[in-house]
Amino acid sequence: MIPDYFFLIAATLLGLNFGSFLNVCIVRLPEDESVVKPRSKCPKCGKMIAWYDNIPVLSWVLLRGCCRHCGQPISFQYPLIELTVGLMWLASAWWYGITVTGLAAAVFGTLLLGIAITDARHYLIPNEYTWGGLGVGLVLSLAGGLDGLITAVVGAATGFGLLYFVAWAGEKAFKKEAMGGGDIKMMTMVGSFVGWQGVLITLFGGALLGTLIFVPLSFGNRERLVPFGVFLAGAAAIAFVFGDALVAWYMGFLGV
Ligand SMILES: [Zn+2]
Repeated sequence: MIPDYFFLIAATLLGLNFGSFLNVCIVRLPEDESVVKPRSKCPKCGKMIAWYDNIPVLSWVLLRGCCRHCGQPISFQYPLIELTVGLMWLASAWWYGITVTGLAAAVFGTLLLGIAITDARHYLIPNEYTWGGLGVGLVLSLAGGLDGLITAVVGAATGFGLLYFVAWAGEKAFKKEAMGGGDIKMMTMVGSFVGWQGVLITLFGGALLGTLIFVPLSFGNRERLVPFGVFLAGAAAIAFVFGDALVAWYMGFLGV
């Protein structure tokens, strides 16, 4: 019998490595560069980083946050993202067990983190996260049988249709692009993971978070772009974890 903590450690190690890969995606996808080749280089001196200097979190700590060759500092962002994704995979395995739902939670969280950081920095959401994530969401839903797949397809269609309508209506109302295509594709992917009720929770929560956080920050600066994907990502994570509870609460509220 293999003890439970073995699986939790394995999930964490897997997460740390996906975090390392997410770092590569965050840097390269907005530049339309391959995330597979070439190997990682030091951004300062351009020297190739050896595998033993590329171990998640550990290498950064051992090298005290500096490049082995040029000694220049390496951003704290790298180990921070690795650690965050590692903890997300641990939490998913802990909460949902070593199940397909646990895997879906871990993958979904990783995708949302990549989307949030990229949208905040570049105001864009690469297709690899959205269309790629949609493919993963649909495949994982199959583990729940045909019902699982139908739920995911209906969720994806709801996300696409609703956001497409909001974007169209916004453009009519404000005579300029109110919402980017990236947001529409993102919500299609989100729908495949959280279903149609989850899409509604995400959209409502995203608008709420955006209003509470972004509006005060951009006060007096009306031209500032809104990285709506950041708020949608936060709300989508809430919808995944608490969606069923929120729906049940709302139904009780309505007296259904
Ligand atoms: Zn260097």
